[in-house]
Amino acid sequence: MERFTYAAPRTVKDAVLELASSGNVKVLAGGTTLIDLMKNGVEKPKRLIDVTGIKELNEFVIDGDELRFGALVKMSAVADHPEIKKRHPILSEALWRGASQQLRNMATLGGNVLQRTRCAYFRDPQYPCNKRQPGTGCAAIDGINRGHALLGTSEDCIAVYPGDWATALAAVDASFDTMSPRGARTISIHDLHVEPGRTPNVEHTLAADELIVRTRIPTRSAYRASTYQKIRDRASYAFALASAAVALDIQGDVVRDARIAIGGVATRPWRARDAEQSLIGRRLDERAARHAGELAYVNAQTTPQNAFRVPLGIAAVERALIVARERA
Ligand SMILES: Cc1cc2nc3c(=O)[nH]c(=O)nc-3n(C[C@H](O)[C@H](O)[C@H](O)COP(=O)(O)OP(=O)(O)OC[C@H]3O[C@@H](n4cnc5c(N)ncnc54)[C@H](O)[C@@H]3O)c2cc1C
Ligand code: SF4
Repeated sequence: MERFTYAAPRTVKDAVLELASSGNVKVLAGGTTLIDLMKNGVEKPKRLIDVTGIKELNEFVIDGDELRFGALVKMSAVADHPEIKKRHPILSEALWRGASQQLRNMATLGGNVLQRTRCAYFRDPQYPCNKRQPGTGCAAIDGINRGHALLGTSEDCIAVYPGDWATALAAVDASFDTMSPRGARTISIHDLHVEPGRTPNVEHTLAADELIVRTRIPTRSAYRASTYQKIRDRASYAFALASAAVALDIQGDVVRDARIAIGGVATRPWRARDAEQSLIGRRLDERAARHAGELAYVNAQTTPQNAFRVPLGIAAVERALIVARERA
C-alpha cells in the first residue's frame, strides 16, 4: 500500500475545502470499495478525506413526496427499514440483494453509487487496462469476459457497472445533491454515470473536489407495485449476472406507467425506455412482459462467453414485471 495523509473534517464545508486543497485526494466513506482498491494498487490517493464524522451526511427522511438519504446512510438502514420495505420494495430489495449483511452495515449509499467495476483485469495491475491506465489496452475483450457488459460498451472497455442500488435509482429517477468549492448542484442519476467511449477512466460526471451530500428519490404511491429482481451465480453475496428494477402504475391489468432499468449487463445503470413504452396502455400478461424483456436487450452486443446473459436478462425483466403486477 502506498503512503497517504489523512484528514477527518466535521462539516461538509471543511470536507470540500480539503478536497480542493491538493490533487489526488479521495473521499473515504465505508471504505469497502476504496480500501480494497488501495490494497491491490489500483487506487493510489495521496490524501484521504474521511467524511464519516460529518453529522449532516446522516439525514434520513422518508415522509413527504420525496425520500432523502444523506450520503453516509448505510445500505442496511434503508434495506431493513419496515416503511421502505412496505412502500418502496424496489429500493429495499435492490439493497438487501446486494453484498452481504456485514458489508451493508458498513457501506454507505454515497459510496455505493460510485463503486467501481469488478472486472478482474482492472483490479489486477499486471494486466493492461484502459480504465486503470489509459492507452494500455483492454485485456477483457480477448480474455475472460463472461461477466462483462452487453450494452453501452466501446472498443476500449466492456466493463460492467456492477451496482444494484443505482439501477433501482435509475428506474425511479433519483438525483443527488452535491457540494464543491463552486457551490451546490443537483445531478440526475441519468447524468451521473457515463459510458466508457474512448475514455473508460472517466466513470462519472462528479468533479474531484465534489462531495455527494444526499440522494433524493421522488415518491409516487402508484409505484408501490415495484421490485428488484437479480439473477446471480449463487443465491446471495454475488454480483448480478442480470437484474431488473421495475415500478408500475397499473389499474386492473392495464399499465398506465412503467419504469424499467436493467443492471449487471451494461457499462452504466441502464434505463430500458422502449421496453417501458411497449407496455403503456396495454394489458400486462406474460407475453407482454416477455416482449418488454426482449426489447430491453434488442441492442445487446455479445461475446461467445457472455451471450448466455441475454436470455437471463430477458427473464429478469419478465419476472420483475409479473412480481410488480402482483403487488398492485
Ligand atoms: C465482497 C463484496 C461484494 C459486494 N457485492 C455487491 C453487490 O452484490 N451489489 C452491489 O451493489 N454492491 C456490492 N458491493 C459493493 C458495495 O456495495 C460497495 O463497496 C459499497 O456500497 C461502497 O460504499 P462505501 O461507503 O464502502 O464506499 P467507499 O469505499 O468509502 O467509497 C467508494 C467510492 O466512492 C467515493 N465516495 C464515497 N462517498 C462519497 C461521497 N459522499 N461523495 C463523493 N464520493 C464519495 C470514494 O472516494 C470511492 O471512490 C460489494 C462489495 C464487496 C467488497
Ligand atoms: S473491460 Fe475495461 S476495466 Fe476491464 S480490462 Fe478492459 S478496459 Fe479494463
